[in-house]
Amino acid sequence: MAYKITEECISCGACEPECDVNQAIREGDSMYVIDAAKCTECVGNYETPKCVEVCPVDCCVPDPANKETKEQLLAKWKKLHPGQTPK
Ligand code: SF4
Ligand code: SF4
Repeated sequence: MAYKITEECISCGACEPECDVNQAIREGDSMYVIDAAKCTECVGNYETPKCVEVCPVDCCVPDPANKETKEQLLAKWKKLHPGQTPK
């Protein structure tokens, strides 16, 4: 399930560098935004979602509109990183 950022975001920017491998997070007009097509819930990169760990206001949350299995998330990772091996 891809993550999303809620309106509580204070645009601190802490999450963006944490998504260094997938680069799914960018600064939007009024808050930071996660690209669901690139977010793998950190599957393939880390054990747990890194943006969640650093967000000071806990506004990185699973997006029920983008439900995916671990296999689907891994397939997304492989598509994003052709020829590379997931961790
Ligand atoms: S859960 Fe991981 S892949 Fe998804 S936006 Fe957060 S840091 Fe990036
Ligand atoms: S860490 Fe949280 S508050 Fe800061 S920009 Fe990211 S989502 Fe927004």
